[in-house]
Amino acid sequence: MKKYVPKMYKSSIFDIDYDKIYDIGIRCIIFDLDNTIVAAKESIPTKKVLYLIKKLKKKFDIYILSNNSSKKRVSNVCKMLEISFISFAMKPFSFGFKRLLKKYKYDISQVCIIGDQIMTDVLGGNNMGIFTVLVEPINSNELKVTSVNRFFERKKIVKLEKLGMFKKGEFYG
Ligand SMILES: [Mg+2]
Repeated sequence: MKKYVPKMYKSSIFDIDYDKIYDIGIRCIIFDLDNTIVAAKESIPTKKVLYLIKKLKKKFDIYILSNNSSKKRVSNVCKMLEISFISFAMKPFSFGFKRLLKKYKYDISQVCIIGDQIMTDVLGGNNMGIFTVLVEPINSNELKVTSVNRFFERKKIVKLEKLGMFKKGEFYG
């Protein structure tokens, strides 16, 4: 069950203490896209996101690893943010993570993933052994495939809550 528990849990990408992430040795931040950086059906990042990414780029290498199969959508958003990406990453499987880590030659200990889903972002990241940060989804308007994942996520959360390992809405880290 531990592999479903994020190392850090925050309300949004704006609530994360990035200095703390830097201090534990993280130099590469992998963001999920849909409902983490932009709402699932939006294609233009807000000014606040643009500003945050610009600021983070001074200290970290930033990438997007998205399960979205629309390369066009992912690439359009990433163009605006001026960051590299991998679309159709099939998280929680390791292909996308491995491609990224191999290409940019990071040590596992220098990498973290920030995303809004336990069944893809957190599970995939924990399986890779990288630092995992869960954020709440931007809104509840989601893609069909995500609502399937949410169904399993809710079940998992019930179990984790029973075990006292995680509680929805109780942020930490
Ligand atoms: Mg997402």
